[in-house]
Amino acid sequence: MQPSGILRELLGRLPRDIVIDPGAPSYESLRRVWNDMIDRRPAAIIRPGDVVQVSEAVRLAAATGLPLAVRCGGHSFPGFSTCDGGIVLDLSRMNTVSVDPNSRLAIVGGGALLRDVDKATAKYGLVVPAGVVSHTGAGGLTLGGGMGWTSRRFGLTIDNLVSAQVVTANGDILEVSDSSHPDLFWGLKGGGGNFGIVTRFQFRLHPLGPIAVGVWNYAPNRVTAALEGLSALAKRAPRSQTHSIGLTKSGLRVTAFHSGPDGLGYESLVPFGNLAGPGEGGLEDLDFLTLQSRSDDFVRWGRRYYGKGGFFSALESVSIREMADLSISAPNEDSEFYMIHLGGAVSDVSDDATAYTGRRAQFFWLAQAIWDDARDDEQCISWGRQAGQRLDVLSQTGNYINEQSDVGQAVAERAYGKTKYDRLAALKAEYDPSNLFRLNQNIAPAHRVSEPNTEQAL
Ligand SMILES: Cc1cc2nc3c(=O)[nH]c(=O)nc-3n(C[C@H](O)[C@H](O)[C@H](O)COP(=O)(O)OP(=O)(O)OC[C@H]3O[C@@H](n4cnc5c(N)ncnc54)[C@H](O)[C@@H]3O)c2cc1C
Repeated sequence: MQPSGILRELLGRLPRDIVIDPGAPSYESLRRVWNDMIDRRPAAIIRPGDVVQVSEAVRLAAATGLPLAVRCGGHSFPGFSTCDGGIVLDLSRMNTVSVDPNSRLAIVGGGALLRDVDKATAKYGLVVPAGVVSHTGAGGLTLGGGMGWTSRRFGLTIDNLVSAQVVTANGDILEVSDSSHPDLFWGLKGGGGNFGIVTRFQFRLHPLGPIAVGVWNYAPNRVTAALEGLSALAKRAPRSQTHSIGLTKSGLRVTAFHSGPDGLGYESLVPFGNLAGPGEGGLEDLDFLTLQSRSDDFVRWGRRYYGKGGFFSALESVSIREMADLSISAPNEDSEFYMIHLGGAVSDVSDDATAYTGRRAQFFWLAQAIWDDARDDEQCISWGRQAGQRLDVLSQTGNYINEQSDVGQAVAERAYGKTKYDRLAALKAEYDPSNLFRLNQNIAPAHRVSEPNTEQAL
């Protein structure tokens, strides 16, 4: 489909080289997103190179009345960063990262990937806490919250956000921080892409210190005992340490991570290798960048995914039994439960201080179906949904908007809770009253009836 007359005329006001229409050779690859379940054909893809072009593109997109999708790394589970027949604003050219080691601050483009950020900061032995897969977009990850190996020690990604440059729905360019538009800054920290396009993030950096990593596998018949052991050890772990699991029908993989400053931490990791008798594996000699890209291939582009996540306030026996039971019925060898240990610095911040909701959680869990053949869609989605629902009832209130395949107002209301949702809806009415930015876990502007993005549901 070629752009219609009005769209063509409006797009003609932008520099030619930043507009990709369906006839362009790069269109096919640029329209793709990470989750192969999502196969949409936008009327045009705009690839701005700076904030002024983003602002112009937002104004033009609003004038067309077409759906507008904003894209950084393209990793949204439900495919929020693309659309059929609308406009995709692809920020990937705005991926520059600059680091000032003296002030320990980084300026990160709104289209940067985690690997762009990690590579630039690691040169100075510094880190901003973020996710665990290097091809994830820093944009979407940050705006939902952002959690990873160093979150127990340094907080969520948003807890290290100092300021942001934002293009609002009417094309204004705002500098946003605790002292400038503080209400909007609060909403950016967990509100997803609802309030505007972040073209530049400024993050506080931390010295990482030496890291220690141990990885152990436990056979299916030892999963329950190993998770009970993990639960007990995790309660006593220092905040310089965190733990994650991958649980499939082939068994349990436990990864224990420690970072300075209190020594190398190997000793405190060793018990994770003997959770139910000795596990297979051991301590690994990895640098941080290698660790960050270790799962890249497993969750690579081009596979099919369905995910449903939630928070446990503690890892209880009943949840352990459910996960062990559900893992046996998984549709294939790759579908998994992922879990990461939170608390620590994440819980130092009050739930009201940011839009992100779920600060008291000790674990984030994700039931994730992973497959390659479209003929398996129904079976895999059905397992993921059932697994998610059975864990959901054991989970605390609040949820992480970034790792949910299901969409609609109920998902957002459940994630934020009624009081915070209402506060977000009032903010949305102020900054995006016509709901231009609606391809996200959408917050309906307070004065409007919700327009659930059901066309985006899997
Ligand atoms: C393989 C994989 C691993 C992951 N690991 C982690 C992890 O370790 N920790 C964690 O916290 N999360 C993790 N996530 C979840 C991740 O945070 C979300 O999928 C996030 O939305 C990805 O951001 P993106 O920029 O790649 O996605 P996109 O699809 O490009 O964007 C996602 C949403 O954010 C909006 N958006 C993106 N950039 C901007 C911007 N600059 N300004 C305004 N809106 C924007 C988009 O419009 C869209 O609504 C992972 C996801 C995947 C697929």
